[in-house]
Amino acid sequence: MKIVNLITMLMFIAGCASTKAYTPPQTVEGVRSLYTQFNRVFTIKHNILVANSSLCSRQITDYGFIYMFVNEEASKEQQELAIEAFNLQKEPMVTYVTPKGAAYRAGLLAGDVIVSVNDNLWSDAESDDVFKKLLKEGIQSPNLRLGILRDKSKHTFNLTPDMACDYSFMLVDSEKHSARAYKREIAVDFGAAKLLKRDDEIAFLVAHELAHLLLGHTLPERIKELDEYKMRNIMEKDADALGIRLMISAGYDPKGAETALRSTDLLDSGPITRFLNYHGPYMLVDERILYLRNVLGE
Ligand SMILES: [Zn+2]
Repeated sequence: MKIVNLITMLMFIAGCASTKAYTPPQTVEGVRSLYTQFNRVFTIKHNILVANSSLCSRQITDYGFIYMFVNEEASKEQQELAIEAFNLQKEPMVTYVTPKGAAYRAGLLAGDVIVSVNDNLWSDAESDDVFKKLLKEGIQSPNLRLGILRDKSKHTFNLTPDMACDYSFMLVDSEKHSARAYKREIAVDFGAAKLLKRDDEIAFLVAHELAHLLLGHTLPERIKELDEYKMRNIMEKDADALGIRLMISAGYDPKGAETALRSTDLLDSGPITRFLNYHGPYMLVDERILYLRNVLGE
């Protein structure tokens, strides 16, 4: 899983250098709606990386929840916004539980306050940072025991993780409608999350980028090939062929690929040549849809 404290949560819209300046939401509603969208895409990413973990050379434990704490390095305004938006306490708090994930199966709920990790109490920790470090280590270990404060009563949960592909993920502050793979990371534009209402559509974007990673397209020795039209075309077709299978194995409807392509094509027509852009000028949409159907034997 990816740990998101408030600042990284807000930072995810910072994106890469090529995107516009980082503008965190200024209202409680803004923070909440951004976070809702983030959780949705986070879940799709989670489902795809867990379902296909056996294909990845490196795996990590995935406990299927996100927690937050007040980041003292953030501005006072941002801290207050976060406290109000999520009702944050001084201890870390579970702010999202992925449906059917490890935390979900164990019974964890959003709003649960984390008061101990692997029997180390928040109240005993030398400092907040020590406890946060223990929590971070805990979610990377094969067993996680959490002490939770819920409605003023204490509960203990033993979590057994899923294994997921070891790739990081971010939503980028961009109004574009694409996704990219870079080194060991998958990045999805916030504009795509807003435009594509069906989860199957987002799943196609994420699965296509995971395919690029699995096929080694982002390895340093292959970067040059991306500039060669012919090679790039082959890479895109390969990523499509594998990607559509990766989304199916995570339980998503491959028809989402077609509707995603048609929706983004209307808005993104024009040459887009950014690094590993999902919506490249390599195949016309109709041609690409036909190709995907052929891959599935339709
Ligand atoms: Zn691609």
